Amino acid sequence: MQNFLTHDQKPSILNFLPMKIVRRNKCDIKKCIILFGLIFILHNTFAEIKNGYGNDILQLHESLKNLKSIFNEPDRLTFARRRQIESKIAYIENSIFYYKVTESLLNQFKMIAPDLYAEIDTIRDSKGRPVNVYIKFVPVNGTQLQAWGATYINLSETDSVAYCAEYGENAVSVKIWIVSKALLVLSHEMGHVKYQVPNLASYLEYYKEHYSPNVDQYDILGHNADDPSGKSAIQFERRFRKEYANFLKTGSEKIEDPMAIMDAIRKNINKNI
Ligand SMILES: [Zn+2]
Repeated sequence: MQNFLTHDQKPSILNFLPMKIVRRNKCDIKKCIILFGLIFILHNTFAEIKNGYGNDILQLHESLKNLKSIFNEPDRLTFARRRQIESKIAYIENSIFYYKVTESLLNQFKMIAPDLYAEIDTIRDSKGRPVNVYIKFVPVNGTQLQAWGATYINLSETDSVAYCAEYGENAVSVKIWIVSKALLVLSHEMGHVKYQVPNLASYLEYYKEHYSPNVDQYDILGHNADDPSGKSAIQFERRFRKEYANFLKTGSEKIEDPMAIMDAIRKNINKNI
């Protein structure tokens, strides 16, 4: 299921969420259901909000170091090989860049709204199992579904209340476009997660009953007047707005606009090249 846009095709954080049946990883097509605009992984030990780029970050740094080392010995390389390495370096640097942007934005969210963050950071499913929530901040238009935020939950074939996603079995994923209100969008998606994770089985029944799988009006899906997940998303948004207002009154830390964060990280990366 995915959280989506509004009727006028302009992103609105107040409306989203359709649901689609998709082919994904280890999930059977008939059993895999994507919910909303976020994803997470379950582990048997600790649940956590995680940077969605974090799993590969050490390997990316190592690969970058090796590639740059090779690139700096031009005599050993053909022109075609140099272009190939250049392209790989650009790809890795881009991934590291968005890892850093995500890290920074998650830290800001935690600073502004620690209570909301903690609720998702420690969330468990209906069987009491901890669930990891993988979050990626992505460029505008960087997702297949044109929505500011989306939450993806694929239902596991073998467990009616567990999940699978791009991060493996029992996982949930959230993707947020890097727009000026990205943290507010994240709070909205977190609200969907907050309801869906512990209520997945019953919510799927509700969803199937109220929304057609072929509907294209994603602004309607997930946000019926009595949809509990949609209500939770709106409630999280309201709580975030309140906590943000309080933070501005009392907080000593400065909150940077996401665009300014991206500029600063990009400059820092360029400086270190
Ligand atoms: Zn929504």
